[in-house]
Amino acid sequence: MKRVLLVVLGIVLFFSFAELTTASSATDNQAEKNANELTGKNLPPYVEAARKQLCEELHPECVGSEQIRYIKNIEVFFSEHCITNPVDQDLYREQQAFVFSYKFPIFLNGDYPSFQLASKEYLRNPSFVVALAGIIRHERVHSNNDPSEVHGYGAEIQYLERMQKKGKFENGEAYLAKVKSLYGQYVTDKIANGSIPVSFAPGQPSVESSVPQQSNCEISQVR
Ligand SMILES: [Zn+2]
Repeated sequence: MKRVLLVVLGIVLFFSFAELTTASSATDNQAEKNANELTGKNLPPYVEAARKQLCEELHPECVGSEQIRYIKNIEVFFSEHCITNPVDQDLYREQQAFVFSYKFPIFLNGDYPSFQLASKEYLRNPSFVVALAGIIRHERVHSNNDPSEVHGYGAEIQYLERMQKKGKFENGEAYLAKVKSLYGQYVTDKIANGSIPVSFAPGQPSVESSVPQQSNCEISQVR
């Protein structure tokens, strides 16, 4: 039986950015005027700041703005990518970032509460930018055909520690400890390496697709 499995990788599990700040506020109800996936010049300033920082710090690992998709509304994303299974949807809702099939682009879940907070606070608290740059570096590892969470979290931790040593990751200790804790779980195999395996049926359109044909969604429901 041949079945196409698309694996969701590079999942950064439920890291609250709360450690990096004391402030919190309501969600941004900015009118949706663009497509649901922002990329290139349309990336939110917070995301672009993190991307640029990674490029400046580690030039060989620079991720292009076109290689990132910032999802404005995760429900619309499900619809556009024919992700119809409620279990799969729940998995995505809990993720800050992921890639499909070990390749670019890197998807950032803009509906994730941490992103909404960080988008407002990053100018006052540059540690948010560092945290996101670390996440982008993590996902970059997976985007290069590497499913290893040890490698992903390893790269992320290395980046956060590098910035901490430079005095650019203020109040980042608790956040870093959380990332290290999860890394440790992968190292000791408490969590199976290679991400949470989620299978999607054939028919899932590529990210280049806009709103998929109805037939794609019908196919994707055959599991
Ligand atoms: Zn990962």
